Amino acid sequence: MKAEILRLIRANDGITCRQICEKLHMSKGAVERIVAQLVAEGYDIEEDEEKGYVMYSYPEFITSHELMSRVTTKWAGRTVYFRKETASTNEDAAELAGEGKEHGTLVVTDYQTAGHGRCGRGWEAEQGDSIAMTLLLRPKVKPDKASMITLVMALAVADVLSKLTEETVKIKWPNDILVNNKKVCGILTQMDTKPDKVNYVIVGVGINVNNCIFSPEVSKIASSLLNETGNKYSRADIIIGIMDHFEYYYDMFEEIGDLSFMVSMYDGYLVNKDKEVRVLDPKGEFTGTADGINDYGELIVQKEDGSFTRVDSGEVSVRGIYGYV
Ligand code: ATP
Repeated sequence: MKAEILRLIRANDGITCRQICEKLHMSKGAVERIVAQLVAEGYDIEEDEEKGYVMYSYPEFITSHELMSRVTTKWAGRTVYFRKETASTNEDAAELAGEGKEHGTLVVTDYQTAGHGRCGRGWEAEQGDSIAMTLLLRPKVKPDKASMITLVMALAVADVLSKLTEETVKIKWPNDILVNNKKVCGILTQMDTKPDKVNYVIVGVGINVNNCIFSPEVSKIASSLLNETGNKYSRADIIIGIMDHFEYYYDMFEEIGDLSFMVSMYDGYLVNKDKEVRVLDPKGEFTGTADGINDYGELIVQKEDGSFTRVDSGEVSVRGIYGYV
C-alpha cells in the first residue's frame, strides 16, 4: 500500500487523505500512518488545507515503494523486492522464481556483496552507489532462444545510458556496456529450462553509477558514470528507464521470435563493429573482423581466410586485438 499511496501523491498536485482512502479502500488512520512513515524516510510531503498531501521532493532511494510508485510499464518491474544488502540479486531472483513469482518481478539491492559475472568471474559493487538488479522473466520462447534476452537487455541499457549521459555509449558483444570505451555495466543471464520449455530466465544487471573505487585489476577496464561525466545520477531514474525500454524491446522479441527488429540498433552501438577481434573460444582461439550480429544475436566474424563464421555467446569471449576492446 505504501507504493500505491506514494504513486497517488506523486501523480497529483495535491490529494486529500479522504480521496486516498476512497481510492485504496483504506482507513484514515492507516493512510496517515503510512504518510508519516514516508515523511520519516525523507519524503518531503506536506498536508495543505485545501489541496491535501503535496510532495515537494523525494530522496534518492531505490526501495521497492519508490520504484513501484514510479514505473510506467505493463509488467517489467511492477513488483519490486528491495534488499538493503544481499550476496547476489541473481540468487535472490532464482529463489523468488522457485516460489512462483511472476514474469517481470524485479530484485534490487543497495549493496551486492558477492555478485558474479559470466563463467564464475566476480563483479564489484559499492554500497549505495551502484545498481545491482535482476529481472525475473517467464519467456514463452523455446530454450534455444532465451540467451538472446541478454542482447535485448544490453540494447535497453545502452539506450538509457546514452540518453542520460550524452557520452559515447557502446556495447561490447554480447553483454558489456561501455561509456567512453570503459565498462560501466555487465549483464548476466541465467536460466532454468526443461528440454522444450523455459521455466524462467533471470537477467542480472550491474551498473557503476556513482561509485569511483575499483580494484587495481578491474580499474584497467572499468569506470562509472560519475567517473566518466563528473555527474552523479539517480539510480532510480536509470532503473525506471531500463524497465521501460526493456519491456518495449522484449515484447517485440517475444512476438517476432528473434532479434531481427533490433539488429541495426544493436550494431549501431557495437564497439567491435568492423574492428579486428580476438575470439576466445575454448575450442580454439582465432582472430578476424567483426561484422555485426545476426537475427539470433550471434556475432558474425570474417576470418583472415575470408570466410565468415558465427560466434555464439555461450562460453566465448571477444576481445579487441590489443586489449579489452
Ligand atoms: P566477457 O567478454 O566474456 O563478457 P568479461 O570480462 O566482460 O568477459 P563478465 O562476466 O561480463 O566478463 O564480467 C566479469 C568481469 O567484469 C570480471 O572478471 C572483471 O574483470 C569485470 N568487473 C568486475 N566488477 C566490475 C565492475 N563493477 N565494473 C566493470 N567491470 C567489472
